[in-house]
Amino acid sequence: MDFNYQDIRKDFPILDQQVNKRPWVYFDNAATTQRPLPVVEKIREFSLQTNANIHRGTHAHAIRTTEAYENARDIVRDFLHAKEREEIIFTHGTTESINLVARSFCEKFLSEGDEIIVTEMEHHANIVPWQMACERHHASLKVLPFADNGTLKTELLESLISDRTKILAVAHVSNTLGTVNPIKEIIRIAHSHNIPVLVDGAQSAPHTTIDVQDLDCDFFAFSGHKIYGPTGIGVLYGKRSWLDAMPPFLGGGEMIDRVTFEKTTYNELPHKFEAGTPHYVGAIAMGSAIQYIENIGIDKIASYEHQLLNYATDQMKALKNLKIFGESPEKTGVICFQLDQIHPFDLGTLLDQLGIAVRTGRLCADPVMDHFGVTAMTRASFTFYNTIEEIDSFVAALKRIRLMF
Ligand code: PLP
Repeated sequence: MDFNYQDIRKDFPILDQQVNKRPWVYFDNAATTQRPLPVVEKIREFSLQTNANIHRGTHAHAIRTTEAYENARDIVRDFLHAKEREEIIFTHGTTESINLVARSFCEKFLSEGDEIIVTEMEHHANIVPWQMACERHHASLKVLPFADNGTLKTELLESLISDRTKILAVAHVSNTLGTVNPIKEIIRIAHSHNIPVLVDGAQSAPHTTIDVQDLDCDFFAFSGHKIYGPTGIGVLYGKRSWLDAMPPFLGGGEMIDRVTFEKTTYNELPHKFEAGTPHYVGAIAMGSAIQYIENIGIDKIASYEHQLLNYATDQMKALKNLKIFGESPEKTGVICFQLDQIHPFDLGTLLDQLGIAVRTGRLCADPVMDHFGVTAMTRASFTFYNTIEEIDSFVAALKRIRLMF
């Protein structure tokens, strides 16, 4: 690894603590990431030194917060390589971004008898909003399955598409299998039938370079808290042509142009989709988080995380009766597994006793559990502030727990 590891770790003081009298090992990064000091300092600055509601004031603090918020939009635009800053909408997170599209796009473009395609490996956030839209509009959901090794059966996509397909929604990276999906190819196929594609980037934006123009996706969603920023803030990128055509999602202040009791006209993009007071401190701090990882270099981060993934996979596979769910050749640092017959909740609790934080349960992906016929899984997920030594402690803990059973 060619970035200064000690300096990076110093930026995340939360990691330097003990849990249950052991050095804390945080392997729950796919659920939420920790925040580096520059992000914490930004939140502090916009709490202690500068604060006023944005877009509405002529006074100094209102101007400063508005500028910082709109600057965050430019940071996100550069990060996603979007064509226009107006294509960046701040939301509360990936879930809200997807709901926005499922509500607003479908209101305009989905009719009775139409179809929406999702995949079998989606997080519930990229299933349920589409299901709700289908219920509202009497449309139906079609599902692209994945193979047992965790790769999507992209070769079946053409057979799922019909002239009633109105949109396709797919995760860039699966939160359970870690699979990096071939979204460029999926988008190419969908576009050859004039079908727009929403990419759920919650698990990809923190770990890979994103270029929405190169991908040619129609929508892209991600969350601040999974990219080393605050909770309660996220992004929806949408191509201007779609966003212009879609009706507003929420009504209220800021999204309007002129209100009378007879008729309301709506604001321009991006404000049309940002009703009410946004989480402007969150947006500003998320901008800092993005700058932080860009300063390290996303490619360096990706390559180091791959080393962690490969090392952990090899070590874990060497353990008897450990099954890994999802072994796609293209993966990020997410490993879901089952150890012997030990229930994931027991395993998670015992790992916690040894200071190691992993996620257990259905991981907001019931269809993935159903695919493998299990009721729960254990998930270890790594990021660039994790270390080989932490993986060694984790594997040693797994060995120790197995002996107890
Ligand atoms: N999509 C994926 C792939 C996720 O992993 C998650 C969260 O784990 C979400 C969507 C929902 O993100 P949020 O809870 O930040 O809205």
